[in-house]
Amino acid sequence: MTVKEYLTQAYRIDQRINSKLEQVASLRDLASKATATLSDMPHKPNRNTGSMETIICKMIDLENEINNDIDTLVDLKRDIVTMIKRIANPEYQTLLDLRYLCFKTWEQIAVDMGYSLQYAFRMHEKKRYGRSWKRVRDRFLAQHPLCEACQKEGKLTTAEEVHHIVPLSKGGNNATENLMSLCKSCHSAITAKEGGRWG
Ligand SMILES: [Zn+2]
Repeated sequence: MTVKEYLTQAYRIDQRINSKLEQVASLRDLASKATATLSDMPHKPNRNTGSMETIICKMIDLENEINNDIDTLVDLKRDIVTMIKRIANPEYQTLLDLRYLCFKTWEQIAVDMGYSLQYAFRMHEKKRYGRSWKRVRDRFLAQHPLCEACQKEGKLTTAEEVHHIVPLSKGGNNATENLMSLCKSCHSAITAKEGGRWG
């Protein structure tokens, strides 16, 4: 199970509890109608008491299931809290808390955290792809060890950073064709020209 699948479990259990609560509410509604029918028709009590019994048994079953689900959810949330607390970056912690413990939508998270929606997404993407990006980057740097911008001006400078030609936020990817080896000063010059975007 991936971390994301693990974290999403709490949300799925929460959804399951909600749907069972709705089922109980509609059964309770049905039971009150059955009671009304029962008092309206005193001569045919058997069928109605029978269906009443079925409804009540179903409600009890569902309520037991809900209690079990709540126990599972409480345990799971406790584990998720422990897992989130181990993350060093407090912003990631808040983001994961809001998403996987409070079950907020990305729009709500963006509002709560006072960030633009894009920023919230980007932070999550960075978290998700952080490790694989490091691998792509290191491999690209090994294959393209010189700053490509300096090279165009006839200078040989060791590249330290890898630049996305089309930014990830604008649909770019980590494919070799979209990458460029740069030294620190060329990279900050290009980034500044592009308006100080992320990554
Ligand atoms: Zn350079």
